[in-house]
Amino acid sequence: MPTPKLFAPGPVDVSKETFAAMCHPMIGHRGSDFEALYASLQPGLQEIFGTSRPVFLSTSSAWGVMEGALRNLARKKVLCLCCGAFSDKWLDVAKKCGFEAEAVQVEWGQAIDPEAVRAKLAEGGFDTVTFIHSETSTGVLNDLAGITKVVKSFPDTILIVDTVSSLSTVPMNMDTHGIDVMLAGVQKALALPPGLAVFAVSEAGMERAKSNSSRGYYFDFLEFAKNAAVNNTPSTPAISILFGLQHILGEIAKEGFAQRQERHAKTNAMIAAWGARHGFELFAPEGRRSFALTCFKTPDGFDLSGFIKNLKNKHNFLINGGYGKIKGLTFRISNMGNETEASMQELIDAMDDVLG
Ligand SMILES: *Cc1c(COP(=O)(O)O)cnc(C)c1O
Repeated sequence: MPTPKLFAPGPVDVSKETFAAMCHPMIGHRGSDFEALYASLQPGLQEIFGTSRPVFLSTSSAWGVMEGALRNLARKKVLCLCCGAFSDKWLDVAKKCGFEAEAVQVEWGQAIDPEAVRAKLAEGGFDTVTFIHSETSTGVLNDLAGITKVVKSFPDTILIVDTVSSLSTVPMNMDTHGIDVMLAGVQKALALPPGLAVFAVSEAGMERAKSNSSRGYYFDFLEFAKNAAVNNTPSTPAISILFGLQHILGEIAKEGFAQRQERHAKTNAMIAAWGARHGFELFAPEGRRSFALTCFKTPDGFDLSGFIKNLKNKHNFLINGGYGKIKGLTFRISNMGNETEASMQELIDAMDDVLG
């Protein structure tokens, strides 16, 4: 059996061209070739982040930086905005790191209400907020502008934003929004193999980190900043993935960032329309849906596992049967990365065929 093509929301399908770029002969990371590679990535990353800050390269999955950001920046009390599997887990992680952590919790499938965040922060004492822009487990795209505005109205409150499944699918504007840490793993919307996370830190974020003596080493933001100043990383990075990232950023530049976003909007709408034709309801509310993936409610009596299995066996496409506590109750289809209207149409034709 050939390996199925991934239409699950991460990791997603990696193109042959990306893999070819990753086959670049190995280079040492303390030398001019590496510095040139590192420097070449900055403009493209800064564009998709919407920042003039350096974008750091962490050889880890996204969780490394999600935990690292707390260890660098949180002082005592963290507010976690929870609306699905990943954002709920961030609350656990904050507790495991020894912080007092509380949640603004909404039902899975709903978006975070900025006013609820305002009310909770007004109770006082919170120094750090964690927020997931696109909650990949539910397909909800949270209100980035609304949430950042509320959090920034509380002085000395640091905002950490996970854009793992939204980066490059919608405009981000880290600097304009006043986001202190913005992070993403590369195996989702950037369609690279897993193993690398990218993140940027505001000046206020760096100041907060400086005043904290328990940053550890591997994710120490000051180490990242010191090395970034000479186009380098604190420890040996996943150099092959960086060559892949260089290729993807080149592809984004060729396509145009705005065109890329338009492509994601179109391919995402194709899947929503496919679902509507078959009577599948969307899990996320209208106006708050991710452009990178679609999460459907499984209708009563629908044989979801049979559908997924037949799609795989007959057409070699893999979609996802729900994540965390909504496994089986929902299913998810990704249109992240390199997928085009043509490739999404192939998936749609295959799904139609299986549904008969
Ligand atoms: C996948 C995902 C993560 C976790 O990423 P890892 O690379 O597995 O650490 C975190 N947040 C969101 C929104 C995700 O989609």
